[in-house]
Amino acid sequence: PFHKSKGQHILKNPLLIDSIIQKSGIKPTDVVLEIGPGIGNLTEKLLEVGKSVIAVELDPCMVLELQRRFQGTPSSARLQVIQGDVLKCDLPCFDICVANIPYQISSPLTFKLLAHRPLFRCAVIMFQREIAMRLVAQPGDNLYCRLSVNTQLLARVNHLLKVGKNNFRPPPKVDSSVIRIEPRRLLPSVNIKEWDGLVRICFNQKNKTLGSIFRQKTTLSILAKNHKTLQALQLSHEGLDDTEMAMCITALGDILGDLSMDSDEGKDEDMEIDEGDTKASDFKDRVLGVLKEGGFEEKRSSKLTQGDFMHLLSLFNKAGIHFS
Ligand code: SAM
Repeated sequence: PFHKSKGQHILKNPLLIDSIIQKSGIKPTDVVLEIGPGIGNLTEKLLEVGKSVIAVELDPCMVLELQRRFQGTPSSARLQVIQGDVLKCDLPCFDICVANIPYQISSPLTFKLLAHRPLFRCAVIMFQREIAMRLVAQPGDNLYCRLSVNTQLLARVNHLLKVGKNNFRPPPKVDSSVIRIEPRRLLPSVNIKEWDGLVRICFNQKNKTLGSIFRQKTTLSILAKNHKTLQALQLSHEGLDDTEMAMCITALGDILGDLSMDSDEGKDEDMEIDEGDTKASDFKDRVLGVLKEGGFEEKRSSKLTQGDFMHLLSLFNKAGIHFS
């Protein structure tokens, strides 16, 4: 009686569960957040090693199963079950999150966790293999994308375990991997909206040179529009406050939910701006001047590091060019 739509694939291999527990480094003082406990196979082991477990489960039938399973056992007082959608509820304070999640909520959940305060120590989460590989991808890797860059801006991410589909009942269509996500205590001082604006433009055509991307009329017109808006509103682009920051991080999860987001199609031909339009051509010169100054003209996003993007953004900002 498992619901496919709720991503119900139950972990049935006890050795694998042990190895997830061991790799997650739970301390006896830890409050553990579990998302989607299902019938409680992982929950049982979490209760053995942690101080307490708070489990958020969407399906009321599973919640009943879970309560039945632990009722009258010594650990029942250390288990709190919240029935609801983890994406919609307020998260409690916790030290560590360990979860075998439904894959359809991977991105929004990751960024909801990363936006959560106070910061937790780490999250050890099962993802479908491709998402996992995107999360940990480094410059030059095939799957290096906007999801990689944005996640790694906010967290350190490691691959822990490869998990074949036959460890689940029913088996899902794809293989999985367990990943550790450790949120960074000190966030780089960038405006996340701007950061993602730049990263999005760059990864839209990640194998083109930045020089060719920033010559395109669509790119230039986005930047020119931002420029005009800022001037008209006389807004400054100072840092965001904590609440704004959290909202931006959460919003990233929704935008990055779609796996097909990094298209590499040149949707836009290189276009020269009308000669007569001197303002526009000045602006274009300013944008290309920044790329030249930083030596970015011939570079491609697929090879740029966090530090490169950070440097590029600060050069653009210094020249008064903004991405949100
Ligand atoms: N943790 C269990 C295990 O490993 O055996 C079950 C994992 S199963 C992949 C995912 C679980 O998440 C299901 O029990 C499902 O009902 C629950 N779930 C699905 N969507 C959810 C949501 N939005 N919030 C909380 N739980 C959800």
